[in-house]
Amino acid sequence: MSHQPPAPLLPGLYIVATPIGNLGDITVRAADVLRACDGVACEDTRVTGKLMRHLGASKPLWRYDDHASERDRARLVESMHTRAVALVSDAGTPLVSDPGYRLVREARAAGIPVTTLPGPCAALAGLTLSGLPNDRFLFAGFLPVKDKARSDMLADLARVPATLVFYETAPRLTKALAAIGRVLPGREVAVARELTKLHEECRTGSVADLADHYAAHPPKGEIVLLVSPPVEREESVDADAMLREALADQKPSQAAAQVARATGLDRKALYARALELRGE
Ligand code: SAM
Repeated sequence: MSHQPPAPLLPGLYIVATPIGNLGDITVRAADVLRACDGVACEDTRVTGKLMRHLGASKPLWRYDDHASERDRARLVESMHTRAVALVSDAGTPLVSDPGYRLVREARAAGIPVTTLPGPCAALAGLTLSGLPNDRFLFAGFLPVKDKARSDMLADLARVPATLVFYETAPRLTKALAAIGRVLPGREVAVARELTKLHEECRTGSVADLADHYAAHPPKGEIVLLVSPPVEREESVDADAMLREALADQKPSQAAAQVARATGLDRKALYARALELRGE
């Protein structure tokens, strides 16, 4: 199919997804909009400048993030009445753990036409590669940096019957895996690294296996971390075996809470069973 030169763009806001590594992943439509727009709102003008040069496009680049002042954002939105403004982030889909939410919200409130151009997104790329269930997933952004906040967030998500998808950085992977092992024992985990780039890899396995691997081979680059859903109630779960293992170094209440998080089974029933097992 032959490709037509880009038509002039109507004024408005165009949310444009860009590659997460491999520049070949830019969509035809994204390239057209970046070549035809009146200017690009971006996180880092150097990063976006590189992409624009790759596309042979030369447009004004305006630095924008959600910490921009109300006045700057209002001015940018106002300009969309007469200009076609593209919004990009450094990589992937704007607004997905990236700036843009406030801009889109205010543009919509001001009656500006807002269009989205879907494309690369690390969370979805990681999910498709992981081999973990994908019929239901929950994207949870970055895990907190502090130990307690990280564990609390994992505990909050423990009963969600879906694959959990996080963004993570290489230096923090070890701590994140350790927390998952503690708070969500028994889950399968996937580490999808450097997606679409030369050293793309995806490892799926038990937390312990992945922790051993990355202790021996400290990871580099960008990471999507995925955690399988809790075991479904209908599946035959050997809750007794899990409780016995947990009781080896924990009190019955802690063991019950741990197994409840891992399986989705009722914590009180598990506690009662843990007391029985301890008495055996
Ligand atoms: N908006 C982007 C998207 O749609 O994927 C994500 C932006 S977020 C600030 C950056 C995080 O996304 C990285 O820390 C990493 O967790 C993940 N990420 C981005 N590119 C990646 C890649 N090529 N491989 C694996 N993870 C990536």
